[in-house]
Amino acid sequence: AAYVLAIDLGVRHMVVARVGLGGQVLDRVEADPGRDWSDLDTTVDAIVETSGLLREGAPDGGRCFGVGLSVPGVVRLNDGLLRFAPNLGWIDQPLGARLGERLDLPAFLANDADLGALAEHWRGAAVGYEHVVVISGEIGLGGGILIGGRPLRGRGGYAGEIGHLRVNPNGRLCRCGSVGCLETETGVESLLIAAGRPADGGLEVYRAVLAEVAAGEPKAMAAAARVARWLGIGVGMLVNTFNPDIVVLGGPLGELFVLTEDVVRESVARSTLVAPREQVRMAASGLGSDAQLIGAAELAFAPLLEDPIGV
Ligand code: BGC
Ligand code: ZN
Repeated sequence: AAYVLAIDLGVRHMVVARVGLGGQVLDRVEADPGRDWSDLDTTVDAIVETSGLLREGAPDGGRCFGVGLSVPGVVRLNDGLLRFAPNLGWIDQPLGARLGERLDLPAFLANDADLGALAEHWRGAAVGYEHVVVISGEIGLGGGILIGGRPLRGRGGYAGEIGHLRVNPNGRLCRCGSVGCLETETGVESLLIAAGRPADGGLEVYRAVLAEVAAGEPKAMAAAARVARWLGIGVGMLVNTFNPDIVVLGGPLGELFVLTEDVVRESVARSTLVAPREQVRMAASGLGSDAQLIGAAELAFAPLLEDPIGV
């Protein structure tokens, strides 16, 4: 049966999957767990190798039609150039073109948060809503915005970079070059730092802190509440700006949200007008960490289906 390769490239994770029509994840491999993907050549080699393994394992007759890539940075709409991935330190990298050549397949690239938002809209927590904001990410924080059911792209495809809204002038230095960005206050590292853990502990330590929150450990709860308040401020800005039906918190943020929902809601309440606030729902992701894979697969299938999805 027809399938595409879907790749979710994060800052500290990379998953390659075979995905069938309809968004069914057939199988997946995580390449070198815990590795830092900041070197472009190593990343391309790892993708080629991992894709090769998956394709060899595919049943007879399984035909690969293309590859879709989700990346943690801004992608130029007209040619798929990865302009800037702050947490990888990549600037102007033709990742899609390079991969397409190496794999000899059509390759398409888009921003992780934009793909996650489309996936939530098609199959996740935002099904049935027209005005949608999805906030997701791991080390970084990204936004995908749908208005009237259509993705908001902006002039060059760079709209929705909400992780770099400068919310705290006294905050930490961000890898985009600014200070006190929403992502430095609410990303994975911010919880680790607030909880007194090593900032590079990654998702494993992040989840250990969340487990302490669930168990009622006071220091972890205070750290999570701090992050939740900033998250609420970020959500509040988006509620006032876009008057969405729903704000979806994806990935690790969704895991934090379910444990700190009251604090987030109170912070949103303090930073929004009552009219848009009355209309907004908030929910954790319906797809978890599969959102990016599903979005990336759809991106690769779209040209075949003559149904451009407009990312
Ligand atoms: C990047 C975004 C990305 C987000 C989540 C941010 O630092 O600027 O483009 O969507 O991280 O990975
Ligand atoms: Zn920033």
